[in-house]
Amino acid sequence: MALIDTHCHLDLYREPKQVAEESARRGVYVLSMTTTPTAYIGTKALEPKNGRIRTALGLHPELAADREHELALFRRYLPTTRYVGEVGIDGSAPHRRTLDRQGRVLTSILGMCAAAGGRTISLHSRGAAGLVLDVISQEPLAGQFILHWFSGSSNQVDRAIELGCWFSVGPEMLRSERGVKIAARMPFDRVLPETDGPFGTNGQEPLMPWEAHLVAAPLATAWGISIRDVQSRMVENFRRLIQGADRLAAVQ
Ligand code: MN
Repeated sequence: MALIDTHCHLDLYREPKQVAEESARRGVYVLSMTTTPTAYIGTKALEPKNGRIRTALGLHPELAADREHELALFRRYLPTTRYVGEVGIDGSAPHRRTLDRQGRVLTSILGMCAAAGGRTISLHSRGAAGLVLDVISQEPLAGQFILHWFSGSSNQVDRAIELGCWFSVGPEMLRSERGVKIAARMPFDRVLPETDGPFGTNGQEPLMPWEAHLVAAPLATAWGISIRDVQSRMVENFRRLIQGADRLAAVQ
């Protein structure tokens, strides 16, 4: 079965080069996130030659308020990639006071994506699911949205589905009862595997990009279908996601 990780941070592992090389050796398809435009070029350099790792251009919401000035760099690099992430809004206690600024940064990023013909965008929305959905609904031409580690309410899951969003879910999310409940609500043609490594862990160690498939068993239970069926659906979903990215690239 094809190994797929649609959201991890290769550059933030203790040994980025080894993790990238091992991912390539195992043939993993990886969407490699970055947290600042400054980190983008160095992270892109980790892409091995087999072409299965794609580097996304990001400005993480926990850094966005202090790094608004990096939007200029974001604009400069955007033409070099079909993938954007990690971006979004974080409404957890340490970041709540910068919600306005974070929202402004996200709006500006989505505007740039729309002007560039659309991108495939991995979004963080911890503690800010409603806000993120509000912002993306204002910019439907920004491209395809992947809500990563989504932790909103059932109503917000439904609203995201109506907006056409994808969801990427990881093994750590599915270790919690609440995470399983949210995932059970997601339609299986909209879900993609992720690790969020090295932040996502197996309880002790960072999850590696080739471990995102561990979501298959808990998803099979949540959806009442077989593990094999989950695996083939994830591959099919990823194929559709990439076709979507190709289509957006064709209209640029
Ligand atoms: Mn992340």
